Amino acid sequence: MQDERGPGPLTGIAGIIKGVWYMFIQGFKPKVTKQVPEEKLEYGHRTTGRVFLNMDACIGCTLCEQICPNGTIRMMTWAYQKSPEFEKKYPNKRQIYPSVDVAICTHCNLCEEICPTGAITLEAEVEEWHMRRENTRYTPPMLNKKENELWGENR
Ligand code: SF4
Ligand code: SF4
Repeated sequence: MQDERGPGPLTGIAGIIKGVWYMFIQGFKPKVTKQVPEEKLEYGHRTTGRVFLNMDACIGCTLCEQICPNGTIRMMTWAYQKSPEFEKKYPNKRQIYPSVDVAICTHCNLCEEICPTGAITLEAEVEEWHMRRENTRYTPPMLNKKENELWGENR
């Protein structure tokens, strides 16, 4: 006949001791978690973080806008004076440059892959904090700046 009694009190006490012992041992192991944002994380150089733009190298070809799968990139007219050296090498006759809504970017990296001049890249800028929702579409010059240059350390 089957014994229908549950585990005895000794089994329960052994389980509690085992749990306490496990927690005690963890206290001596090195910490693997980081207190973000107080502690800065390190990212690999291939991290597809925030989109950056080098306006000097952008020729306004619109390929990045065309390949962007969700409309994150919209071309914008922007009067930007390049140095004669860049004007000769990367002419942007129509004066159009990408703007990027960083809040809806999926970090797919397609824009970087298709850009013929390497003007648009995804850098390891991951901690994107925005004070207000209306800040999320970055103009072409904003795309050349890091987050703390745009908003300061105490956003
Ligand atoms: S990474 Fe992808 S979603 Fe983001 S801007 Fe580039 S193409 Fe668009
Ligand atoms: S960033 Fe690159 S792909 Fe986009 S418009 Fe400029 S040159 Fe063309």
